[in-house]
Amino acid sequence: KIQLKHLTKKFKDVVAVQDVNCTIENGEMVCLLGPSGCGKSTTLAMIAGLEMPTEGAIYFDGQDMSGFEAEHRDIGMVFQDYALYPHMTASENIQFPLKMKSVKKKERLEKVNQIAEMLQITKLLHRKPGQLSGGQQQRVAIARALVKQPKILLLDEPFSNLDARLRIELREDIRTLQKKLGITTIFVTHDQEEAMSISDRIILMNQGCVQQYGTPQELYRSPNNLFVARFLGNPP
Ligand code: ATP
Ligand code: MG
Repeated sequence: KIQLKHLTKKFKDVVAVQDVNCTIENGEMVCLLGPSGCGKSTTLAMIAGLEMPTEGAIYFDGQDMSGFEAEHRDIGMVFQDYALYPHMTASENIQFPLKMKSVKKKERLEKVNQIAEMLQITKLLHRKPGQLSGGQQQRVAIARALVKQPKILLLDEPFSNLDARLRIELREDIRTLQKKLGITTIFVTHDQEEAMSISDRIILMNQGCVQQYGTPQELYRSPNNLFVARFLGNPP
Protein backbone atom coordinates (compact mmCIF):
# COMPACT_ATOMS: atom_id res chain seq x y z
CA LYS A 1 0.00 0.00 0.00
CA ILE A 2 0.97 3.62 -0.45
CA GLN A 3 0.74 5.96 2.53
CA LEU A 4 1.03 9.70 2.29
CA LYS A 5 1.69 11.29 5.67
CA HIS A 6 1.55 15.04 6.15
CA LEU A 7 2.78 15.41 2.59
CA THR A 8 3.57 19.06 1.86
CA LYS A 9 5.34 20.83 -0.99
CA LYS A 10 6.20 24.50 -1.10
CA PHE A 11 7.74 26.33 -4.03
CA LYS A 12 9.05 29.52 -2.41
CA ASP A 13 5.82 31.28 -1.36
CA VAL A 14 3.46 28.89 -3.22
CA VAL A 15 2.05 26.00 -1.19
CA ALA A 16 1.41 23.47 -3.97
CA VAL A 17 0.47 20.57 -1.67
CA GLN A 18 -0.60 21.00 1.94
CA ASP A 19 -0.65 18.27 4.59
CA VAL A 20 -2.02 15.44 2.44
CA ASN A 21 -2.77 12.26 4.39
CA CYS A 22 -4.13 9.12 2.81
CA THR A 23 -3.63 5.41 2.27
CA ILE A 24 -4.00 3.67 -1.08
CA GLU A 25 -4.48 -0.07 -0.74
CA ASN A 26 -2.73 -2.63 -2.94
CA GLY A 27 -4.49 -3.27 -6.21
CA GLU A 28 -6.62 -0.14 -5.98
CA MET A 29 -7.25 2.29 -8.79
CA VAL A 30 -7.37 5.76 -7.23
CA CYS A 31 -8.03 8.95 -9.16
CA LEU A 32 -6.39 12.13 -8.02
CA LEU A 33 -8.99 14.66 -9.11
CA GLY A 34 -9.24 18.44 -8.90
CA PRO A 35 -9.10 21.71 -10.81
CA SER A 36 -6.04 23.04 -12.60
CA GLY A 37 -3.29 24.09 -10.20
CA CYS A 38 -4.66 22.18 -7.17
CA GLY A 39 -1.48 20.15 -6.75
CA LYS A 40 -2.20 16.85 -8.52
CA SER A 41 0.99 16.67 -10.61
CA THR A 42 3.13 17.81 -7.69
CA THR A 43 1.67 15.06 -5.48
CA LEU A 44 2.32 12.45 -8.17
CA ALA A 45 5.86 13.74 -8.74
CA MET A 46 6.62 13.32 -5.03
CA ILE A 47 5.30 9.75 -5.05
CA ALA A 48 7.46 9.06 -8.10
CA GLY A 49 10.53 10.55 -6.43
CA LEU A 50 10.86 13.33 -9.01
CA GLU A 51 10.17 16.03 -6.41
CA MET A 52 11.19 15.96 -2.75
CA PRO A 53 8.54 16.87 -0.15
CA THR A 54 9.10 20.00 1.91
CA GLU A 55 7.48 18.16 4.82
CA GLY A 56 5.97 14.74 5.41
CA ALA A 57 6.75 11.36 3.91
CA ILE A 58 5.66 8.60 1.55
CA TYR A 59 5.62 4.93 2.52
CA PHE A 60 5.38 1.90 0.23
CA ASP A 61 4.25 -1.17 2.18
CA GLY A 62 5.40 0.49 5.37
CA GLN A 63 8.83 1.53 4.10
CA ASP A 64 9.77 5.22 4.07
CA MET A 65 10.70 6.19 0.50
CA SER A 66 12.55 9.40 1.41
CA GLY A 67 16.00 7.97 0.72
CA PHE A 68 15.01 6.21 -2.53
CA GLU A 69 15.74 7.80 -5.90
CA ALA A 70 13.03 7.63 -8.57
CA GLU A 71 14.66 4.67 -10.36
CA HIS A 72 14.59 2.58 -7.18
CA ARG A 73 10.91 3.01 -6.40
CA ASP A 74 9.36 0.15 -8.42
CA ILE A 75 7.06 2.52 -10.30
CA GLY A 76 5.91 2.85 -13.90
CA MET A 77 4.88 6.31 -15.06
CA VAL A 78 3.02 7.81 -18.00
CA PHE A 79 2.66 11.53 -18.63
CA GLN A 80 0.35 13.62 -20.75
CA ASP A 81 2.91 14.17 -23.50
CA TYR A 82 3.96 10.67 -24.41
CA ALA A 83 7.70 11.39 -24.57
CA LEU A 84 8.61 8.21 -26.43
CA TYR A 85 12.10 8.15 -27.91
CA PRO A 86 11.43 9.32 -31.49
CA HIS A 87 14.36 7.52 -33.12
CA MET A 88 13.41 4.13 -31.65
CA THR A 89 10.66 1.78 -32.79
CA ALA A 90 7.75 1.02 -30.46
CA SER A 91 9.40 -2.31 -29.61
CA GLU A 92 12.73 -0.63 -28.79
CA ASN A 93 10.91 1.97 -26.68
CA ILE A 94 9.17 -0.73 -24.66
CA GLN A 95 12.41 -2.71 -24.28
CA PHE A 96 14.35 0.30 -23.04
CA PRO A 97 13.68 -0.07 -19.27
CA LEU A 98 14.68 -3.75 -19.52
CA LYS A 99 17.86 -2.87 -21.41
CA MET A 100 18.78 -0.53 -18.58
CA LYS A 101 18.49 -3.52 -16.26
CA SER A 102 20.67 -5.64 -18.62
CA VAL A 103 17.89 -8.11 -19.37
CA LYS A 104 18.91 -10.41 -22.25
CA LYS A 105 17.41 -9.84 -25.68
CA LYS A 106 15.39 -13.06 -25.84
CA GLU A 107 13.69 -12.32 -22.52
CA ARG A 108 13.18 -8.69 -23.50
CA LEU A 109 11.35 -9.68 -26.66
CA GLU A 110 9.19 -12.18 -24.80
CA LYS A 111 8.17 -9.51 -22.30
CA VAL A 112 7.49 -6.99 -25.06
CA ASN A 113 5.28 -9.45 -26.92
CA GLN A 114 3.35 -10.25 -23.77
CA ILE A 115 2.62 -6.66 -22.83
CA ALA A 116 1.99 -5.62 -26.45
CA GLU A 117 -0.69 -8.25 -26.74
CA MET A 118 -2.45 -6.96 -23.64
CA LEU A 119 -2.44 -3.44 -25.05
CA GLN A 120 -3.33 -4.55 -28.58
CA ILE A 121 -0.27 -3.01 -30.21
CA THR A 122 1.43 -6.15 -31.52
CA LYS A 123 1.08 -5.03 -35.12
CA LEU A 124 2.58 -1.62 -34.40
CA LEU A 125 5.80 -2.75 -32.72
CA HIS A 126 8.06 -2.09 -35.72
CA ARG A 127 6.84 1.50 -36.17
CA LYS A 128 8.49 4.65 -34.86
CA PRO A 129 6.42 7.08 -32.74
CA GLY A 130 6.04 9.48 -35.70
CA GLN A 131 4.16 6.76 -37.55
CA LEU A 132 1.65 6.21 -34.72
CA SER A 133 -1.54 8.06 -33.74
CA GLY A 134 -1.74 9.83 -30.37
CA GLY A 135 -3.75 7.00 -28.85
CA GLN A 136 -1.36 4.37 -30.19
CA GLN A 137 1.59 6.31 -28.80
CA GLN A 138 -0.07 6.35 -25.37
CA ARG A 139 -0.57 2.59 -25.56
CA VAL A 140 3.16 2.21 -26.26
CA ALA A 141 3.96 4.54 -23.35
CA ILE A 142 1.76 2.43 -21.04
CA ALA A 143 3.45 -0.75 -22.28
CA ARG A 144 6.85 0.80 -21.56
CA ALA A 145 5.71 1.76 -18.05
CA LEU A 146 4.44 -1.76 -17.34
CA VAL A 147 7.14 -3.92 -18.94
CA LYS A 148 9.26 -4.06 -15.76
CA GLN A 149 6.15 -5.24 -13.89
CA PRO A 150 6.24 -2.45 -11.31
CA LYS A 151 4.11 -2.61 -8.17
CA ILE A 152 2.75 0.87 -8.84
CA LEU A 153 1.53 2.68 -11.94
CA LEU A 154 1.27 6.47 -11.99
CA LEU A 155 -0.59 8.22 -14.80
CA ASP A 156 -0.68 12.00 -15.12
CA GLU A 157 -3.52 13.06 -17.43
CA PRO A 158 -2.38 10.39 -19.89
CA PHE A 159 -5.25 10.83 -22.32
CA SER A 160 -5.95 14.55 -22.16
CA ASN A 161 -4.49 15.20 -25.63
CA LEU A 162 -6.84 12.69 -27.20
CA ASP A 163 -10.35 13.12 -28.54
CA ALA A 164 -13.30 12.16 -26.34
CA ARG A 165 -14.14 8.84 -27.95
CA LEU A 166 -10.55 7.59 -27.90
CA ARG A 167 -10.17 8.73 -24.30
CA ILE A 168 -13.10 6.60 -23.20
CA GLU A 169 -11.77 3.58 -25.09
CA LEU A 170 -8.29 3.95 -23.57
CA ARG A 171 -9.43 4.55 -20.02
CA GLU A 172 -11.63 1.46 -20.15
CA ASP A 173 -8.75 -0.61 -21.49
CA ILE A 174 -6.40 0.66 -18.79
CA ARG A 175 -9.02 -0.07 -16.14
CA THR A 176 -9.42 -3.65 -17.40
CA LEU A 177 -5.67 -4.17 -17.56
CA GLN A 178 -5.17 -2.61 -14.13
CA LYS A 179 -7.71 -4.99 -12.58
CA LYS A 180 -6.28 -7.99 -14.41
CA LEU A 181 -2.71 -7.27 -13.28
CA GLY A 182 -3.86 -6.07 -9.85
CA ILE A 183 -1.45 -3.15 -10.10
CA THR A 184 -1.89 -0.28 -7.64
CA THR A 185 -2.64 2.74 -9.82
CA ILE A 186 -2.94 6.48 -9.29
CA PHE A 187 -4.59 8.26 -12.18
CA VAL A 188 -4.47 12.06 -12.28
CA THR A 189 -7.30 13.85 -14.02
CA HIS A 190 -9.26 17.10 -13.79
CA ASP A 191 -12.26 15.41 -15.44
CA GLN A 192 -14.84 14.37 -12.82
CA GLU A 193 -16.70 12.15 -15.25
CA GLU A 194 -13.49 10.26 -16.04
CA ALA A 195 -12.70 9.85 -12.32
CA MET A 196 -16.25 8.71 -11.48
CA SER A 197 -16.20 6.07 -14.21
CA ILE A 198 -12.90 4.29 -13.53
CA SER A 199 -11.94 4.71 -9.85
CA ASP A 200 -12.23 2.46 -6.86
CA ARG A 201 -11.72 5.62 -4.85
CA ILE A 202 -11.22 9.31 -5.58
CA ILE A 203 -8.95 11.81 -3.84
CA LEU A 204 -10.52 15.18 -4.57
CA MET A 205 -8.12 18.09 -4.07
CA ASN A 206 -8.49 21.85 -4.08
CA GLN A 207 -5.75 24.42 -3.50
CA GLY A 208 -3.27 21.84 -2.32
CA CYS A 209 -5.61 20.22 0.23
CA VAL A 210 -7.61 16.99 0.13
CA GLN A 211 -11.30 17.85 0.24
CA GLN A 212 -12.55 14.28 0.37
CA TYR A 213 -11.26 10.74 -0.12
CA GLY A 214 -13.78 8.00 -0.83
CA THR A 215 -15.59 5.92 -3.40
CA PRO A 216 -17.26 7.76 -6.30
CA GLN A 217 -20.63 7.01 -4.67
CA GLU A 218 -19.57 8.40 -1.29
CA LEU A 219 -18.34 11.64 -2.82
CA TYR A 220 -21.44 12.02 -4.93
CA ARG A 221 -24.00 11.07 -2.26
CA SER A 222 -22.39 12.52 0.84
CA PRO A 223 -20.03 15.33 -0.13
CA ASN A 224 -17.95 16.79 2.73
CA ASN A 225 -18.52 20.36 1.63
CA LEU A 226 -19.90 22.61 -1.06
CA PHE A 227 -16.73 22.40 -3.15
CA VAL A 228 -17.05 18.60 -3.44
CA ALA A 229 -20.76 18.82 -4.28
CA ARG A 230 -20.18 21.47 -6.93
CA PHE A 231 -17.16 19.77 -8.44
CA LEU A 232 -19.09 16.55 -8.90
CA GLY A 233 -22.03 18.39 -10.35
CA ASN A 234 -24.40 17.56 -7.49
CA PRO A 235 -24.86 20.82 -5.55
CA PRO A 236 -27.63 21.02 -2.93
P1 ATP B 1 -3.06 20.95 -13.85
O1 ATP B 1 -4.41 20.30 -13.80
O2 ATP B 1 -3.13 22.29 -14.52
O3 ATP B 1 -1.98 20.07 -14.40
P2 ATP B 1 -2.09 20.39 -11.14
O4 ATP B 1 -3.20 20.08 -10.22
O5 ATP B 1 -1.31 19.27 -11.70
O6 ATP B 1 -2.67 21.33 -12.32
P3 ATP B 1 0.44 21.33 -10.06
O7 ATP B 1 1.19 21.26 -11.32
O8 ATP B 1 0.71 20.27 -9.05
O9 ATP B 1 -1.14 21.40 -10.35
O10 ATP B 1 0.72 22.75 -9.40
C1 ATP B 1 0.25 23.13 -8.11
C2 ATP B 1 0.70 24.54 -7.80
O11 ATP B 1 2.11 24.58 -7.65
C3 ATP B 1 0.36 25.57 -8.88
O12 ATP B 1 0.03 26.77 -8.26
C4 ATP B 1 1.66 25.69 -9.65
O13 ATP B 1 1.78 26.97 -10.22
C5 ATP B 1 2.69 25.48 -8.57
N1 ATP B 1 3.93 24.85 -9.10
C6 ATP B 1 4.05 23.62 -9.65
N2 ATP B 1 5.32 23.35 -9.98
C7 ATP B 1 6.04 24.45 -9.64
C8 ATP B 1 7.44 24.79 -9.71
N3 ATP B 1 8.34 23.95 -10.21
N4 ATP B 1 7.79 26.03 -9.26
C9 ATP B 1 6.90 26.86 -8.73
N5 ATP B 1 5.58 26.60 -8.61
C10 ATP B 1 5.15 25.41 -9.06
MG1 MG C 1 -0.90 18.63 -13.64
